[in-house]
Amino acid sequence: MLFRKAKLWLLLWAALAGAAQDGAAGRFIEHVKVLTAEQMQGRAAGRPELALAADYIEQQFKSYGLRPPPGAAFRQAFPITAHASLGENNRAAYNDGSRWTSLKLDEDFRPLSFSASGHATGQVVFAGYGITAPEYGYDDYRTLDVRGKLVVVLRHEPQEFDENSIFSGRVYTLHGQLEAKALNARRHGALGVLFVADKPNHPSETALGEFTPLAGAANHGILFVEVSAAVVEGWLRLAGRSLEQIIKDIDRDLRPRSFALPERLQVDLTVEVNQQTAMVDNVMGYLEGATDEYLIIGAHYDHIGLGEQFSMSASGKGLVHPGADDNASGVAVLLELARWFSGQLRPRRGILFIAFAAEEIGLLGSNFYAENPVLPLSKAVAMINLDMVGRMRENTVYMGGIATGSGFRELVDAAGRRFGLKLDYSDSSGYGSSDQFSFLAKSVPVLFFYTGHHADYHTPQDTWDRLDAEASARLIELVRDIAQRLIENPKKPRLLRPSR
Ligand SMILES: [Zn+2]
Ligand SMILES: [Zn+2]
Repeated sequence: MLFRKAKLWLLLWAALAGAAQDGAAGRFIEHVKVLTAEQMQGRAAGRPELALAADYIEQQFKSYGLRPPPGAAFRQAFPITAHASLGENNRAAYNDGSRWTSLKLDEDFRPLSFSASGHATGQVVFAGYGITAPEYGYDDYRTLDVRGKLVVVLRHEPQEFDENSIFSGRVYTLHGQLEAKALNARRHGALGVLFVADKPNHPSETALGEFTPLAGAANHGILFVEVSAAVVEGWLRLAGRSLEQIIKDIDRDLRPRSFALPERLQVDLTVEVNQQTAMVDNVMGYLEGATDEYLIIGAHYDHIGLGEQFSMSASGKGLVHPGADDNASGVAVLLELARWFSGQLRPRRGILFIAFAAEEIGLLGSNFYAENPVLPLSKAVAMINLDMVGRMRENTVYMGGIATGSGFRELVDAAGRRFGLKLDYSDSSGYGSSDQFSFLAKSVPVLFFYTGHHADYHTPQDTWDRLDAEASARLIELVRDIAQRLIENPKKPRLLRPSR
């Protein structure tokens, strides 16, 4: 269907959806139907259809009387890489003090699709996992000066097989994302990132990661290449170290083990990656409170389009992945909360409603927002994230982040009892990482709502008719009650550092 025609259709449907339904369950499912309609083509970031979903959300915000946040617009645009290819000029070499050795492209090193293009030469610093996580009291850069140097950074994050780790064990936090590592290295003044697999933790993975031409993080202006573990091991030996020992040491006591490699080691790097950039939008609506404090409620509205590299269905690639549960359901809850709160008396604190783009390709929208907030994050009392909230089973809501804010446990327990819902706090057993991590990384306490995994996750079968709208209506009441208390309680929650 032509894009213009699709837009007209959307306007019509938006009018109907608002008028025809009363009752939260009815409105919930109407929002989901619009967001999962054929015309949306699975809402992939980097595809034009995503803008249709953004238009719909903005229209709904406006129809409730929400305003843009003070000094901002309804849309916050940010760049992503829509498509990437390797150029002709990709070269790397190192000198260990005696001679230069060149590295083979695709065997010893390979640029990532979001790398900057350019040339750098300099000393090398080993910067652990490349993570600065104030919320966990962990900083690989604490003792380092990496300005004008290249940093070697490990994939993933510490203690990844430790279910009790403050880094959430097998669930990666935002800090495990490559984009976060790139931004952090640039922030510390590094010339480039030499990324290495945490091979001792994943011994079967021998090859370098594939170069992906598909949509992903934007070029953040820093060189970023993967270097084989064998090459990096050779460099570490110059300092009498090994990857295995370093990883073991960090895992044991969660203390960084960063250090500068001997000065005689020099790396020379040239990268050429051609990127096609696309702009996508976070969509925001603001409800003003009596003070400048506010609550953030968010849900991502993008999904995986025709499956691309993210489909879990072998036969479904190339088909529309409608993403009803993931995450039209979260957006529908967000909209219903926005509608309800807009009809109430002015609250003590405001509420910032945000629908994030590009979550599926690496939490990009929430990360961009957290790096470029339109309201000071120090005034945010908490961030509530909704991701996959349409398929409640056995009356159970899975919750993350309960240990990140003072008073959260009591607050949420009481709400669960009030609405007869079972709350599962076993946070570390595979709830997936979602946009809340972008805010936790900026020291905002978070609450994450999720109704559980299922076989239709990331397949063409994640359709609206498989959702339980009545159950989601009860979840809406639960979240509304918690949000209400967060904006009215005189006491602001304090960020708690999880301890093990
Ligand atoms: Zn999701
Ligand atoms: Zn997803």
